[in-house]
Amino acid sequence: MIEIKDLHKSYTTGSNTLHVLKGIDFNVKQGELVSIMGSSGSGKSTLLNILGMLDEADLGSYTLDNVPIKNLNEKLAAQYRNKFLGFIFQSFNLINYKNALDNVALPLYYQKLARKEREERSMHYLEKVGLADWADHLPNQLSGGQKQRVAIARALASDPKVLLADEPTGALDTKTSYEVMELIQGINEEGRTILIVTHEPDIAEMTKRIVNLKDGRIVDDRIVNQVKATAHV
Ligand code: ADP
Ligand code: MG
Repeated sequence: MIEIKDLHKSYTTGSNTLHVLKGIDFNVKQGELVSIMGSSGSGKSTLLNILGMLDEADLGSYTLDNVPIKNLNEKLAAQYRNKFLGFIFQSFNLINYKNALDNVALPLYYQKLARKEREERSMHYLEKVGLADWADHLPNQLSGGQKQRVAIARALASDPKVLLADEPTGALDTKTSYEVMELIQGINEEGRTILIVTHEPDIAEMTKRIVNLKDGRIVDDRIVNQVKATAHV
């Protein structure tokens, strides 16, 4: 699903150049649930933003669902982002004057779906995250965990191939974090490919594979939770 080879990224501010990603090789297969770990400043968000086509690498190659992601114009990049990717952020990024349903429906509006279908689909995903009864509530009437569930429903609404989450539990207490991670695990069990950036080891342990970044390089990449065989006995 995701193939990256020898990816490099630097930021230049004034006369200073900071080499943030120093040759990342990394593949993700369909259906994986991967966490990207590393201390603050190790390049996690930079990597996720490149995978999410919000930023471009300086060197190296990136292939997403067999499509080479390189030198795309803004229009094509936006099309691919809509089709392939769903985003979840630490700070939820909900629109505070729109209710839960309308927040979920917004990406579908940009995809020019008819109102009825937007509403039906959005309601379906709100049900999926357990918030059907909260559809007409504004973000400030929701708890942090509920806001993140709305954001997850919004990310799912366009049926993306890959979900990318940057510190999705970073603004939540421990219990709520685990609940949100259980929801994410359930979504993954349905076959959706998910990448999560986190610096919390217990959150990473709830994924199936942990990739450790240090100073812009992958220093460890291991399977932590094998897919459990369903017992039919
Ligand atoms: P992490 O998410 O692991 O904390 P980031 O990928 O956000 O790390 O950042 C890695 C390094 O790159 C940090 O030192 C950060 O200050 C720097 N950085 C990130 N984005 C930019 C930018 N747009 N311009 C300049 N430096 C940046
Ligand atoms: Mg970050």
